Amino acid sequence: MTTTDVLEAARETVLDQGIGLDEVGVLACLRLPDERLPELLALAHDVRRRWCGDAVEVEGIVSAKTGGCPEDCHFCSQSGLFESPVRAAWLDIDGLVRAARETRETGATEFCIVAAVRGPDERLLDQVRAAIEAIRVDGNDVNVACSLGILTAEQVDRLAAMGVHRYNHNLETARSHFPAVVTTHSWEEREATLRLVRDAGMEVCCGGILGMGETVEQRAEFAAQLAAIEPHEVPMNFLDPRPGTPFAGLPVLSATDALRAIAAYRLALPRTVLRFAGGREITLGDLGTRDGLLGGINAVIVGNYLTTLGRAPGEDLALLEELRMPIKGLSASL
Ligand code: SF4
Repeated sequence: MTTTDVLEAARETVLDQGIGLDEVGVLACLRLPDERLPELLALAHDVRRRWCGDAVEVEGIVSAKTGGCPEDCHFCSQSGLFESPVRAAWLDIDGLVRAARETRETGATEFCIVAAVRGPDERLLDQVRAAIEAIRVDGNDVNVACSLGILTAEQVDRLAAMGVHRYNHNLETARSHFPAVVTTHSWEEREATLRLVRDAGMEVCCGGILGMGETVEQRAEFAAQLAAIEPHEVPMNFLDPRPGTPFAGLPVLSATDALRAIAAYRLALPRTVLRFAGGREITLGDLGTRDGLLGGINAVIVGNYLTTLGRAPGEDLALLEELRMPIKGLSASL
């Protein structure tokens, strides 16, 4: 297949018919030379507009429990097993309500409560239930999402009953690369939680981190594995090598490789909310944020990420206005 064929074929199947690229197609896009990158990004942008519309989903994220996690995800400064600078800390209900209010005030429709745990215990589930109740008492209609690690079927049902409408659980990387990234739990355990979440009727948010030493082939493998989950949303992170973690010494992904991946993942997932998550500042810088939004991304996080400071909310919202991309409303579906 020539490089021209790759994009021509993608235009027909993905843009015209809404059928995502398979692993082979994604790999061909990831192998396109830099000169073809603008063309690839333009096609991804067309696909995003055609199948998702112009609106951008804005989300806020807050950490209910930070640091001290018993797992050993090699990229994560919240693991209690590494010499990481992040110490264990809990946020109280008032703090969660305040964060939800500030999130909603930016125009965001999603508010995700995150905890650095293998899976939730009773204390954490109680805290989430109390927080959701308090957020509603506060008159806040924001959609509440959660990211609390690996779940049992019973925990999935409890979260659904609390009104959690979306659950984030990242597969992190290709199945074949996962053992080089995490040893304390398996890719299959993560996948099982995602299936339970979907069966319970909650929206599935599942993504990962690129730049963790995976090959380009594994990047394509991961795109196909994500597509098989049929997630509502895919957060795309790029490794920001944190001091004290086993991946501290890995090189940062180049901006061109990151943009190629964004566009290729959009072609694999034409209807999915594709979100810029962590690491985009270090990988892409300001210009890259714009390129990403014009190359397949249609969701952003406002405020700070979990352990590293993201851009100020105003900057992203101003950029959306400049690009004439409306913020998705609560009742609209992408
Ligand atoms: S990624 Fe999640 S499960 Fe893994 S160490 Fe970090 S907080 Fe724990």
